[in-house]
Amino acid sequence: MFHWREQRDGPVQAPSGAAGSPATAGTPGKARTTGIVDWGFTAASAPATSAGRAGAKGSTTGASPTGASRGDFAGLNLGAHVGDDPAAVEVNRRQLAEALDVPRSHLVFLQQEHGNTVVVAGEDAPWPSPPVADAVVTRRADLALVVLVADCTPVLLADRAAGVVGAVHAGRPGLVSGVIPATLAVMREQGAEVIEAVVGPSVCPRCYEVPLAMRDDAAATSPVSASVTWSGTPSIDISAGIVDQLAHEDVLVTWLPGCTRESDHLYSYRRSQRTGRFAGVVRLWS
Ligand SMILES: [Zn+2]
Repeated sequence: MFHWREQRDGPVQAPSGAAGSPATAGTPGKARTTGIVDWGFTAASAPATSAGRAGAKGSTTGASPTGASRGDFAGLNLGAHVGDDPAAVEVNRRQLAEALDVPRSHLVFLQQEHGNTVVVAGEDAPWPSPPVADAVVTRRADLALVVLVADCTPVLLADRAAGVVGAVHAGRPGLVSGVIPATLAVMREQGAEVIEAVVGPSVCPRCYEVPLAMRDDAAATSPVSASVTWSGTPSIDISAGIVDQLAHEDVLVTWLPGCTRESDHLYSYRRSQRTGRFAGVVRLWS
């Protein structure tokens, strides 16, 4: 599992405009304390180079759950809706909770539907069943937010100083319908000012062929998302579109490398339709 904890001293900084040059954000003279956030991405199996993948930022910590799933779902499948043995999925989820040092019941899952609904995990969380939403935001340090993916783009968000985190499942419909700006708006309602993002592995545009009309539709919202496959046919670069949306909202972005379809240690729906789901997870530390 890619899993790391960060603590940054000094003023939290945000990019300034398209040039990306750092500038101190927030109200001048207002002291911002630093905080700690655990964030990372699970894998179907622990890759030999996991530390290197995440090593550009922070240190790799925590346990590496190996997972109890077998067959098409072999490894740490966290998706309960994909046909895997429910008992194995539950073992995997407990392993994840242990690695994050939260009670199993405090792993917050969503019933993801490729929409742009954002829920706030407040005092009423954890809920008895996952809410229908593609993004979740919280100020609580005792919850770990989880988004499940197998080609879509997982996005983790944090304002460590304000103590607000979020997790987003963003595929093509989410890019077009604006699940990213919707989540950032909810985080700001919750007090976030300077937001950082980690964008996880997803299917790359070389591997994501779509009909021309579908590419055009995405490009109407996000011009940078128009791309081509390995063979030159139309494709969509969903993560580029998402990173562009984040940059336009002055979010400081770390974009991790990796194509799900080309990586054996990540689940990919495009590579194998009967497969598991890996996760992006984020948790505040108080
Ligand atoms: Zn690829």
